Amino acid sequence: MFQQKNNSSLSCIEKFLFGGRSFYVKRDDLLDPYLSGNKYRKLYALINTRSENLTKIISYGGTQSNAMLSLAALCNKKGWIFEYYTKPLHIKENSDSNYAQALSLGMSHKELDDDLYRDFIATLTLNLEEKTFVVHQGGADKSSRAGVEELAKEILESDLHAKHPAGIRSLATPSGTGTTALYLALALPEYKVYTTPTIGDKAYLLEQMSALEKVPNNLIILESEKKYHFAKPYKEFFDLHVRLVETGIVFDLVYAPKLWKMLLEQTDEEILYIHSGGTTGNASMLERYKYKGLVSI
Ligand SMILES: *Cc1c(COP(=O)(O)O)cnc(C)c1O
Repeated sequence: MFQQKNNSSLSCIEKFLFGGRSFYVKRDDLLDPYLSGNKYRKLYALINTRSENLTKIISYGGTQSNAMLSLAALCNKKGWIFEYYTKPLHIKENSDSNYAQALSLGMSHKELDDDLYRDFIATLTLNLEEKTFVVHQGGADKSSRAGVEELAKEILESDLHAKHPAGIRSLATPSGTGTTALYLALALPEYKVYTTPTIGDKAYLLEQMSALEKVPNNLIILESEKKYHFAKPYKEFFDLHVRLVETGIVFDLVYAPKLWKMLLEQTDEEILYIHSGGTTGNASMLERYKYKGLVSI
């Protein structure tokens, strides 16, 4: 483990040997049990908001979302009400799912009919009550920038470069909305930032990112030839995940496997991988793998 020069760094950097190569991993997964990984960074401004300044957080999205669980944990700590809107829930969630954990942390779940959902979400930010804050799906919001810039600062101030003569000039982190990768690339123009889409394709990811900021050239979107659907079980991702876990670090089963696959196939330099957290969602994903008969454990 590398000692950080700057004691104010929130997470450490570890060396990680994988696929016959050496990588480094910034362990943002260890920041907090629920508020993990990039959700911690993206919600940083809210984490630093005094509890008396807000009374309620409203958000919306999927019931397995890592952002949902992070917000539930945050509101629980701050004593804020957390209202979360979703489309009707069809599947029964396990007791160890993100959903069950979010409920136990006090989340108030509201289901909306499919045909009402879109319009309701579109009007969420109109006529908000005082001291109420809306976090858009997955935390895709300009308010995420400050926390990701803090992460960038920690990378610059780590002594990774001093210990590593050639210097590490490449970073990697997986994308959902692309908010984290985008703000990281903007904050660190001297680094390459590799990412890969997990929701939709490269064009869709670029569209999402462009809604926030102009996408810089040092952001490199790696694409697979094969098309994968979001959060769908794939045997090859599971096998890769097992290999990652065996190497000593647990990654999430939704976002991480595809990026690791792309990195192994399409890069060859030493890379600092920013762990994006999300391992609390692994129980639900494992159920889906079992249900599909892809794993028997
Ligand atoms: C939310 C999430 C992402 C995607 O982050 P974006 O900023 O939306 O691109 C990646 N990995 C994990 C584990 C996540 O929970």
